[in-house]
Amino acid sequence: MDYLQKAYCMNQSVRIYAAITTEMTSYAQNIFNMWPSSADAFGRLLTISSIMSATYKANETLNIIVKGDGPIGKMTVEARDCKVRGFVSNPGVFLQNTNGTINITKAVGAGEIEIIKDLHMRAPFSSSCEIIQGDIANDFTYYFAKSEQIPSSVGLGVSIDPETNKIIASGGFLIQIMPGCKDEYITKLEEKLSSLKPTTEMIKEGYTPLDIINEITDGDYVLLETKELKYECNCSKDRFKNGLKSLGKVELENILNEDHKVDITCNFCNKKYTFDENELKEIILEL
Ligand code: ZN
Repeated sequence: MDYLQKAYCMNQSVRIYAAITTEMTSYAQNIFNMWPSSADAFGRLLTISSIMSATYKANETLNIIVKGDGPIGKMTVEARDCKVRGFVSNPGVFLQNTNGTINITKAVGAGEIEIIKDLHMRAPFSSSCEIIQGDIANDFTYYFAKSEQIPSSVGLGVSIDPETNKIIASGGFLIQIMPGCKDEYITKLEEKLSSLKPTTEMIKEGYTPLDIINEITDGDYVLLETKELKYECNCSKDRFKNGLKSLGKVELENILNEDHKVDITCNFCNKKYTFDENELKEIILEL
């Protein structure tokens, strides 16, 4: 099970969220048949998106879009109440660094991150900032500082077996400094972070969310809550039926006469829905 743990440290002036997301990253890799660079970048994005959704209320939807000019193209994630779903333009990207490790910064490229928050009370609120590195972690650290004015630190990692392309582990953390945090705490935290073990290494070694929190705080924390995280798509045949209805009678009659059926694949979970001749006729009759 993927899950997140939230803790306070430094006299409640620093908040830490740590998550293990191996199942959601593996699930996405399987349904989209992702190559290493795509799986690594998308796994990181799923992780930070699920952590971000845990910082919002349950009925708030986040649409997180990373629009890089690298071969992966656009990465989209929808997050709500610790559940995520998403897709990438190109799942088949595998670039390597000179030392043989998986490259994601070139695979993501330059561009911008856009985040649309739908709070269901007023018009959706959108904010954006540029992609500064393409490793997702530093890009979101920058996003929180620039667009949300919350001094933060993000660590993300995906460990992939180079032989089998199987996801070994995936996860990360988000540290947020609360207003009024003492300078000495910030200095202490910065020192700790500069010598912290790389997130990918922690993940690979099988760290739990609590192990990550422990590593960052040297054991000095107060655990607040544990939440399950999940990749989940809420698509249904009914929803796609409504989409077909919106095409209108003439267009649907054309499809019926030419193709006799419609196949629709959900972008978010790759599930296929087929509407046969009889179902199409029924939909037309309902219009
Ligand atoms: Zn779906």
